[in-house]
Amino acid sequence: MTSSSSHKHDTTRHLLGLEGMPPDRITSLLDLAENYAQLNRSCAAPRDVLRGRTLINLFFEDSTRTRTSFELAGKRLGADIVNMSVSQSSVNKGETLLDTAATLNAMRTDLLVVRHSQSGTPTLLARKVDASVINAGDGLHEHPTQALLDGLTIRRHLGTLESLTVAICGDIAHSRVARSNIHLLTTMGSTVRLIGPPTLVPKTFKQLGVNIYHHMDEGVKGVDVIMMLRLQRERMSTGLVPSAREYFRFWGLDRKRLNLARKNALVMHPGPMNRGIEIESSVADSDQSVIQQQVEMGVAVRMAVLDVLTRNKDTP
Ligand code: ASP
Repeated sequence: MTSSSSHKHDTTRHLLGLEGMPPDRITSLLDLAENYAQLNRSCAAPRDVLRGRTLINLFFEDSTRTRTSFELAGKRLGADIVNMSVSQSSVNKGETLLDTAATLNAMRTDLLVVRHSQSGTPTLLARKVDASVINAGDGLHEHPTQALLDGLTIRRHLGTLESLTVAICGDIAHSRVARSNIHLLTTMGSTVRLIGPPTLVPKTFKQLGVNIYHHMDEGVKGVDVIMMLRLQRERMSTGLVPSAREYFRFWGLDRKRLNLARKNALVMHPGPMNRGIEIESSVADSDQSVIQQQVEMGVAVRMAVLDVLTRNKDTP
């Protein structure tokens, strides 16, 4: 493992979170991603951008969309990809993680995409390896590429990320997606409403500059975007919600509630969706839903991130 040098802490070399990222950096990432989205549609992605580079997907937690889309993104830009799924049970915390980092470092990896159930793991690894580290979701902390792809999807439909009102609904407490989106949307000048029961939307979120609502109908009134979140039971140590049926009754997005938002408001969900628990199937599949476009933008955003971090790393 290399000694710690100043470039290890360079925030332009890693993507660990969106907290504190300046608006112009977010905009330039989204502009590049927009370009890649168009190239992807015409099958014209430049395969030489990451030629000769190695990307390792290091996933300590399950993933379908994120892992696959990092893989596709890397392949479209010509990188060599290795997928490592490390089952949680085989990981012996601290020491093993650092041993893993040392091993990957010795393999001269260029890009390390990390998902872990513990907040802060990608940051720790970034201090220990020479590769550029990308946080693909760490515990309750952040999921920066998810918020970037959400931002790109919104911008493509509404033309801006400024002066919008976005409702993020449901299990905020356990959601790294919510945290990253709060940082991105407030940085770009939009208003964020968090909607959910007090057990899942703690008051402490107010510090992030958002408005909190404990009534769904009131919260979605007039908003431009409704972002639904999955009920993350795997992160709950106690039953914070009475039952799935009751949850849907109070906090689920159905047609009646959607009609309270602005006409043609966008419906979003990061996936995986629990149909009938946080979102009615017909709403998820309606023409106001941009859920599949979020997935498409995920590949473009990850291409932009891999491209930019590699260029930043090459610049002395
Ligand atoms: N896929 C997202 C995440 O990894 C959201 C979810 O799991 O509900 O955080």
